Amino acid sequence: HTAPPTMAMNGHFASVGDAPTKEQYEHGIQVIDEEKVFNPHVNTYLQLTKVAQAGFDYHLISVFGSQSTGKSTLLNHLFGTQFGVMSENERRQTTKGIWMSRNKRDDGKAPDAERMANNILVMDVEGTDGRERGEDQDFERKSALFALATSEVLIVNIWEHQVGLYQGANMGLLKTVFEVNLQLFLKDKQSNPRSLLFFVIRDHIGNTPLVNLRNTLLADLTNIWSSLSKPKGLEKSKIEDYFDFAFSTLPHKILQPEKFVAEVEKLGTRFRRGQRAARQHGLHTDHELEGGIFLDEYHRRIPADGFSKYAEDVWGSIVANKDLDLPTQQELLAQFRCDEITREVLEAFDVEILPLEEKQAEGTRSGKPTVLANLGSLGKGARVKTVKAFETEASRYHKGVYVRKRVELESKIDVRLKALYAGQLTAAHKAGVASFSGSVASAVKAGQKKGASYEFADIVEREKAIALKQFETEAKSLAIEGVPWSNFKSQYNLYEKELDEVSGRLRKEEMRRLATRVERWVRSRLGESIGLEFNKLGSGRGAGGVPEDAVKPPTEKDLWDRIWNVFTSTVKEAETRFVERAKSFDASQDEIDIGLWRLRRKSWGVLRAKVDEEVMEGNILLKLRENFEDKFRYDEAGVPRIWRPTDDIEGLYTKAKDSTLTLIPLLSRFRLAETYGPPDLPDWIGVVPASVDPKDEEDLTPIGGVDEEEGKSLEEEMTILSEAKRQDLVVRFKKTADGVYVEAKRSAIGGVAQ
Ligand code: GDP
Ligand code: MG
Repeated sequence: HTAPPTMAMNGHFASVGDAPTKEQYEHGIQVIDEEKVFNPHVNTYLQLTKVAQAGFDYHLISVFGSQSTGKSTLLNHLFGTQFGVMSENERRQTTKGIWMSRNKRDDGKAPDAERMANNILVMDVEGTDGRERGEDQDFERKSALFALATSEVLIVNIWEHQVGLYQGANMGLLKTVFEVNLQLFLKDKQSNPRSLLFFVIRDHIGNTPLVNLRNTLLADLTNIWSSLSKPKGLEKSKIEDYFDFAFSTLPHKILQPEKFVAEVEKLGTRFRRGQRAARQHGLHTDHELEGGIFLDEYHRRIPADGFSKYAEDVWGSIVANKDLDLPTQQELLAQFRCDEITREVLEAFDVEILPLEEKQAEGTRSGKPTVLANLGSLGKGARVKTVKAFETEASRYHKGVYVRKRVELESKIDVRLKALYAGQLTAAHKAGVASFSGSVASAVKAGQKKGASYEFADIVEREKAIALKQFETEAKSLAIEGVPWSNFKSQYNLYEKELDEVSGRLRKEEMRRLATRVERWVRSRLGESIGLEFNKLGSGRGAGGVPEDAVKPPTEKDLWDRIWNVFTSTVKEAETRFVERAKSFDASQDEIDIGLWRLRRKSWGVLRAKVDEEVMEGNILLKLRENFEDKFRYDEAGVPRIWRPTDDIEGLYTKAKDSTLTLIPLLSRFRLAETYGPPDLPDWIGVVPASVDPKDEEDLTPIGGVDEEEGKSLEEEMTILSEAKRQDLVVRFKKTADGVYVEAKRSAIGGVAQ
């Protein structure tokens, strides 16, 4: 027969921590040893036997009964287990503590109706008549409690001749079971799981039919129940509130070995899942069971992967003589397991998410934020997978705990994804803004190259739409359905705002470019027209004595009026061009006002520089000389004079010289003829626009009388020649005029001499 378990296995789990091998579990596993220590390897055993993965698809059976009544023998025959049995010639207790083994019977080929349920775990509980343990009833109570807290079916093994012996030892055991049951469910009135008491009557001779044995037993059980002193609140409870009953007989194993085997075989077919056919009043017995004996309502609803932890905690409470509170026990188990499962699924989540987080962190560190490819689908995928994996394992546990832990898990995941997505959008934001301004700039450049007029506003609008679309696509790809934080509207708005700021800046640059172009135009225009006005000075009667001017010679007196008019009308034209263009790219009125203000100031500067150039020593001296010569050497009709000695050379010289000399004070100051004062430059330039940016003023040259804080008056601004320069000019001019006079004089005498 089967060998008893070796001492190593029967010992005190000396090898705690060493993972046991499958071979060590030939005889099942000793869940609780005779020292009441719970074996830490139960879960390993469940893993090795593949029960741990079964969810709820497993069943737990315990066997009870007096010592040496063939319990282990029965289990070994029924389930192919190898629990230790007593050898025939040695009456000694063999099963110590509580052993457990998975059903080893291979009935895969049997018809469905005879095939046993999946994953049956059988617990062989130490003989309970206390022979070897003296009068110590403690272990009996404790193991009964443990079995009841875990098992769906309790097999009660009993000799036929014990039936009806109400005072028998076996009945004492049942009394314990009932008492313990009442204690157990004191705290658990709502769930109140039922158990099946399955009486297997051994050595059935056959004289007494099973029906009679059943009736006798039921009567005894009812008696025992009513004799129990019940705890408060449960005084009225009935045995059938907690138990169903099933009965079976087996022939004598030694006397009728073949019949015994055949009957055991038949008995085995009852260990299938079944359902209650009808509810009757009175005790519920196997008459009502259809199919097998495993009803769903017997199941303790402990997921297989949490069974060892649950069993250990239950046993811990029992040993510590604490009240067993199964609902609390189940909640604690749920918390423990849900936390474990959370850790497991987060590990898998890490494998997918950590590399992405690292890549992103590196981009941030190096100052080049990376837009990670496919982040949305990767993140969503990892989230769904992780939550699903959690759900699969954890949803079998206490509903409330599961729901709470699921929310916790989701928020753990979301904290990570949120950070990752925020980084992603920051990167997308930066990249988008850079590419937007780059695209606008190169489109502008391309437009300038073609020389054609490009529409800045159109370019900005087009590039902004592209940039927004890109960002939106990224943000949408990150959105998770039903997750409010994954709506990135505010980030999108922020992005759009920055694009607008950037386009504002770009428009400003464009305005600058426009301003530069317009200024250049003003400069070239003024260069010509102002030059022309000064050239007219050269001729006292029109440039080179041209007849058209001769008719109505320009009076030098209105030189500045003409300059001012040319200047203001040129600038007016430039302003019109500027406004037209600026409007085409959506510049604001403020921006336009600033641009115009700048344009006027700069134009004034251009004019001022041009005038300075014209009155530069050499230039102005030349002009004065020309002016003088025109008056001196030409007659009223514009005909060159041939000097004769009789001519009043001196008188003509003095007249012409004095006339030209009047130009010097005229040239010295920018004065309008009408008012005999400077033009109202401050009014013409206008007040500083309110919205002007200090930066806009940086490159502006101060203007006297306009920028008062500069300490330069308008009078000074309008001073073209300083007093010293003027005097110097007078002296130089006189010398030049004198030279011309001397020459004239000489030619007159010379003419006579010839
Ligand atoms: P346990 O202590 O209840 O587990 O009993 P065991 O299975 O170890 O068996 C105790 C003794 O009873 C052994 O010597 C078995 O050979 C014997 N035995 C086993 N089955 C039967 C049976 O059906 N009838 C009788 N009379 N003896 C049996
Ligand atoms: Mg035994």
